[in-house]
Amino acid sequence: MSVFSAPAFDQHELVSFCSDRDSGLRAIIAVHDTTLGPGVGGCRMFPYASDEDALHDVLRLSRGMTYKSALAGLPLGGGKSVIIGDPRQDKTPALFRAMGDFVQSQSGRYVAAEDSGTSAADMRLIAERTAWVSGIDDNEYGGDPSPNTALGLYLGMRCAVRHRLGVDSLEGLQVAIQGLGHVGYCLAAYLRNNGAQVYAADVNAANVQRAVDDLGVIALDVADILSQKVDILAPCAMGAVLNEQSIPKLRAGIVCGAANNQLATAENGAQLQDLGILYCPDFLVNAGGIIDVHHQRLGSAESVKQEHIGRIETTLAEVLRRADESRRSTHAIAEELAREYLQAGQSQLQALAASN
Ligand code: NAD
Repeated sequence: MSVFSAPAFDQHELVSFCSDRDSGLRAIIAVHDTTLGPGVGGCRMFPYASDEDALHDVLRLSRGMTYKSALAGLPLGGGKSVIIGDPRQDKTPALFRAMGDFVQSQSGRYVAAEDSGTSAADMRLIAERTAWVSGIDDNEYGGDPSPNTALGLYLGMRCAVRHRLGVDSLEGLQVAIQGLGHVGYCLAAYLRNNGAQVYAADVNAANVQRAVDDLGVIALDVADILSQKVDILAPCAMGAVLNEQSIPKLRAGIVCGAANNQLATAENGAQLQDLGILYCPDFLVNAGGIIDVHHQRLGSAESVKQEHIGRIETTLAEVLRRADESRRSTHAIAEELAREYLQAGQSQLQALAASN
């Protein structure tokens, strides 16, 4: 398995592997860039088919976190961790305590948070061994940042429909959600409360039933959700769903969802643009969670957190404006803007260091 020449390596600062004999933990921590601060990012648990798949995932996700934090104006870098295992059957307290030791051994360069396959309860076990973990507060949401990720998506959708359809609200619009987990369910609630019609699909039938019963969501087959003719498609399950096979079948005018790395390749961003589909870059519109995690650590007032999440709407408006002007993909423009923010942050830090 190659690390330095892996396609997603992209000059990562640190890639660390852990194999703990007693607990059975096999995990990777990746820190892409700490220019603006420590690499904060979720700890994902997934039954990867191979070590290569796990490495590829953690590198892509970690790099995405660098861009996400920079665009969100956070003093944080990009990092991520993956635990190789099935969250439905391989979780034990010892496993997460060992993960806590692994996080602690990075001396604060990586800060863990909840992600796909892990919960606030898992983060509390990690917190028994390290302070470098977020999302463990016993507040209204139990430290789960997903409701604020959903809020950011909702604001992103509002910006996108204003840009594309010239309307100020989602009332009466149709949205298809792939995945009714932590984020998808909360997003469906925001949309229903604001008058949108919501179609949704999930491989977990219980998640679908809950959304149908509680929110009046219309259930669709998993195989049909991506090609549903709607105003907005929201991929909220897994990455790489926008690819050579799926893109020609899309019938939504706007794509705005939570899943990280929705584009299988950067070229798929240009493909969406050629088809006239407005793609809201995932690492921009799904930043509500990391903004929440940041303010949880600071102990900020709720109003400060909400104002910060609200900036997702203005940043997206800027990306859409530049994309229209330059006729380039929104994905490319968002990456470019993130690099500008990273550079500006680095210059500020250098100026500060020079003045001391
Ligand atoms: P989750 O695990 O709670 O929910 C994912 C849902 O997708 C589950 O209900 C699962 O059954 C469903 N699913 C899986 N495969 C599917 C398929 N093929 N078709 C339909 N449904 C399928 O995860 P989450 O926390 O809701 O996050 C969703 C996505 O958003 C993930 O990719 C995550 O990395 C990303 N994300 C989450 C947050 C957050 O705050 N939780 C923040 C940023 C990005």
